[in-house]
Amino acid sequence: MSNYDYDVVVLGSGPGGYVAAIRASQLGLKTAIVERENLGGVCLNWGCIPTKALIHNAEVLETLHDAESLGFTFENLKVDYAAAVKRSRDISGRQAKGVGFLMRKNKIEVIEGHGVFTDPHTLQISPTEYFPESKERTVTAANVIIAVGARARGLPGVEIDGDRIIQYRDAIVMDKLPKKLIVVGSGAIGMEFSYIYNAYGVEVTVIEMLDQVLPLEDAEVAAEVAKAVRKAGINVLVSTRTEGAEKTKKGVKVTVKNLKDDSTETLEADKVLMAAGVQPNTDKAGLDAAGVQLSERGGYVEIDEVMRTNVPHIYAIGDVARAPLLAHKAMKEGLAAAEHAAGKPTAYDTVVPSVIYTDPELASVGMTEEEAKAAGYEVRVGRFPLLASGRASTLGVDSGVIKLVGDAKTDLLLGFHMVGPNAGDIVSEAALAIEMGATLEDIALTQHPHPTISEGVMEAAEHAHGRAIHIANRRR
Ligand SMILES: Cc1cc2nc3c(=O)[nH]c(=O)nc-3n(C[C@H](O)[C@H](O)[C@H](O)COP(=O)(O)OP(=O)(O)OC[C@H]3O[C@@H](n4cnc5c(N)ncnc54)[C@H](O)[C@@H]3O)c2cc1C
Repeated sequence: MSNYDYDVVVLGSGPGGYVAAIRASQLGLKTAIVERENLGGVCLNWGCIPTKALIHNAEVLETLHDAESLGFTFENLKVDYAAAVKRSRDISGRQAKGVGFLMRKNKIEVIEGHGVFTDPHTLQISPTEYFPESKERTVTAANVIIAVGARARGLPGVEIDGDRIIQYRDAIVMDKLPKKLIVVGSGAIGMEFSYIYNAYGVEVTVIEMLDQVLPLEDAEVAAEVAKAVRKAGINVLVSTRTEGAEKTKKGVKVTVKNLKDDSTETLEADKVLMAAGVQPNTDKAGLDAAGVQLSERGGYVEIDEVMRTNVPHIYAIGDVARAPLLAHKAMKEGLAAAEHAAGKPTAYDTVVPSVIYTDPELASVGMTEEEAKAAGYEVRVGRFPLLASGRASTLGVDSGVIKLVGDAKTDLLLGFHMVGPNAGDIVSEAALAIEMGATLEDIALTQHPHPTISEGVMEAAEHAHGRAIHIANRRR
């Protein structure tokens, strides 16, 4: 390894990249990380963190609007969305600085600039608009971990222009609210922004081509979210394809087609937020010079179980490598790549929980009921509606559900799907249960504190066995 400048160079400092760099350094490898923008990648600067900051504001605003039911009244509630955006940007800035601190503490050299492979062991680094002062330089590395992420994409006829037709990077810094917004795509990004804007009084229409909101989620829990967001005032059109968008003097006209009856309709709004997909950043990193192969499906970098590409000393992790496009998955892949580069035994083989921070929150891990059936399992389902939860009623929550999908033969937990308060934290219990091979019986036998929302997990497990206490059991 000593013939190279570094044992490992990580290209991109998102959650995949910075975590990989830290583990590589912990394992004694001389490590550098190349970043063309801010440390922390999409997650800290444009995605996970700033959206959750805005979502917190939206939640507080909703609570304030509902304050009368709690016995509070306000004379004049002043709402300042620009202040919410500023708060969100400040939080992102602090988090990105925190990554810089971690790099220094772990003796990782941060190389500011855009990195491009010129051969399988060499990267050319150039200045960028974020780092105009950076010097052109070349670095060589025994191992390279590609962690360059992904970016939003438009649709044919609906190109992102950053003004009327925007994407998440535009939306996250936009501090003036449109009156009317069309959101194309009802995945996590589309639904989270819809929630924020709706809470702030924007008239939001979501267009989804498939026949359910949050198409990757279990149909039953996705339907709970659809019901709740419609009740909150968001107009949700499913089985509807966005055909094109035309910019007008004042806004945008969007043509949509109802896929059930083939009828078309034109919707108008001030802006359109494209949240219908991403594309991996495989185009400006010189991957061809490195000889790195892309997959035919989706154009991601092709990797094996230790994150190695077809070039054995080059790894790829996170959004550039494969779905699901989630920060915690990128981090775990980063650990596996760094450990393998250091010659340690490693593998990436864990379930990936997912959280959608709408109100109500949705969280899931493992198989949906449909997936378990398709995989040939005889499925045993247990449910606990939060209407029956004492804790939910103290919080003023009267909807939501916890659904467990088990294997009727072995009783093993296969999947967890929840809509309701704290879903994003409670899902970790289920992830651990699946990882440890817990059965529904194990979950039912585990004491859960009262009164909590998490008790519902235990009740759902009891329900799967026809023994729930606080709800009716199905007849046996
Ligand atoms: C609005 C939104 C909300 C999200 N919310 C969540 C959430 O709540 N939870 C969750 O788990 N995930 C969430 N995600 C997804 C999450 O942000 C990504 O999965 C995650 O950031 C992927 O990490 P990564 O390390 O693969 O790449 P990224 O975070 O995309 O980082 C890649 C980095 O590489 C840099 N780079 C690219 N090319 C080069 C180059 N050639 N040279 C130098 N640097 C380069 C980029 O500037 C960037 O900083 C959200 C995404 C969005 C858009």
